[in-house]
Amino acid sequence: MRALQYRTIGSAPEVVDVPTPVPGPGEVLLRVTAAGVCHSDEFIMGLPEDQYVYGLPLTLGHEGAGTVAALGEGVKGVSVGESVLVYGPWGCGRCYPCSRGEENYCENAASEGIRPPGLGAPGAMAEYLLVDDARHLVPLGDLDPVASVPLTDAGLTPYHAIKKSQPLLVPGSVVIVIGVGGLGHVAVQILRAITPSLVIALDTAEDKVELARSVGAHFGFITGGGDDAMSTVEEEIRALSGGRGATAVFDFVGIQATTDLAARLVAVGGEIAIVGVGPGTVNVGFFSTPWESSARAPYWGSRPELMEVLELARSGRITVEVERFSLEEAPRAYERLQAGTIRGRAVIVPADHQDSEDPS
Ligand code: NAD
Ligand code: ZN
Repeated sequence: MRALQYRTIGSAPEVVDVPTPVPGPGEVLLRVTAAGVCHSDEFIMGLPEDQYVYGLPLTLGHEGAGTVAALGEGVKGVSVGESVLVYGPWGCGRCYPCSRGEENYCENAASEGIRPPGLGAPGAMAEYLLVDDARHLVPLGDLDPVASVPLTDAGLTPYHAIKKSQPLLVPGSVVIVIGVGGLGHVAVQILRAITPSLVIALDTAEDKVELARSVGAHFGFITGGGDDAMSTVEEEIRALSGGRGATAVFDFVGIQATTDLAARLVAVGGEIAIVGVGPGTVNVGFFSTPWESSARAPYWGSRPELMEVLELARSGRITVEVERFSLEEAPRAYERLQAGTIRGRAVIVPADHQDSEDPS
């Protein structure tokens, strides 16, 4: 089968031929219908050799959707032909967090060598994907896999971050979303769907600010001009919050400039979630941040949260903007992501350009 693999440190990913996997006991083979392109892939492919821990060659793709193609021995509860989404942060399934459905915080994944697809295990940017357990599949029903596959990360990750702050997001609350790409543009919609907050979106690119407004942000501002431009934006945001600052800031960039901005804009008692995988930190302390404000760095989301995100999509309250690419075009999708020219999420559709083999 064809697969998009990261093969050499520092080089672009390549489309290559690899053996079609065969499901072992308990495993499920999916014929991939869609796979999302995440900035985290860009991050891991930018790591130097001594920090790269995902194995080579690595078939990319941690957002996956497919139809069940074959079942390994003993698999029950799913049937061949069913359309499913893949819950990506695989865990052991037995520890305390896993038993709550929070496999993203599995206590044993590292020691047992359990890796998410596309982030250690072979990912979804291929004609077929092997899923380690049927519990990692969520029925998609008649939802479009291409429009839905980003829900597994670009939807789930912001949902998980926002839900934690939800008790604070009462009428009159003000939320700032920094970075309106794949995750950020879904975050804006989740905030509008499940909170009464005033939503303010920030991005360095004008078209992303426009996207934020079009998906429901009450206000959008371009950031990253000179210091003067920044302080004007900050003053406007402060004025919009009645001088109090932001109840919550969701930072989908995570560099020092954005975490500093978050720390300057957060209100007394407010919360900062650093979702973007960057080196930025927030120095929480009596003399550096407002009283009782806090900062955290959430990772991905839980299985029940993915079900909830799917319900939001099913009821039409969140819609992912997608740009569609074939598997052969996938390297180009990564170039476009790096250049910042993807609107919403890029999605790879392996069936678009080629005939696939029969795995059975
Ligand atoms: P993306 O490239 O689609 O979007 C990033 C957006 O941020 C773009 O619109 C870009 O213009 C904007 N931006 C860049 N620099 C900015 C700045 N200084 N100020 C304001 N806006 C800026 O990326 P994505 O796939 O949405 O991922 C966003 C981040 O979230 C990445 O760092 C990714 O690695 C991370 N991520 C984290 C998790 C997690 O579990 N914590 C999960 C998925 C992705
Ligand atoms: Zn991701």
